Formats: sequence, structure tokens, C-alpha cells
Amino acid sequence: MPDPDEKPDQTPSDAPLNEGLELCANCGTALSKDEWCPILTDTDADGDLVIRSFCDEGCKEAWSDADSSGSRSA
Ligand SMILES: [Zn+2]
Repeated sequence: MPDPDEKPDQTPSDAPLNEGLELCANCGTALSKDEWCPILTDTDADGDLVIRSFCDEGCKEAWSDADSSGSRSA
């Protein structure tokens, strides 16, 4: 029986609040899209290209160092 009052699967295709708002991949700081921030291209486990943004060069380097070690702790 369909219940018209409940739509548990209703998920917005894109969340307006998060659109354009990047988080630093290293420390999680919200990045202003009005300011330039360093980015790094990476590939995920499936080989898809991922672009990571960082709040500053220090975070970018910290991420690079951690990533190149091969052991990324979750
Ligand atoms: Zn950062």
C-alpha cells in the first residue's frame, strides 16, 4: 500500500547548501569558492578522477605526504 504522506526515498538530486562549497581534503575546513585554493588531482579505488581542494599549501602537502605513503588510515 502506498502511503502518500510518507516519501522515505525522497532525496534531493543535489543539495543547494553544498553546491560549490568545497571542504579541505586534509583538515575539513570549508573553503570559500571566492578564494583560490590549491587543488590536487587523485584517483579513487575505481580509477575515477577526483579533484581534492585544500585550504592552503600546507594541507595539500600534508595530504600528498600521507597519500604517497600508501597507507591511508580511515
Ligand atoms: Zn586544510
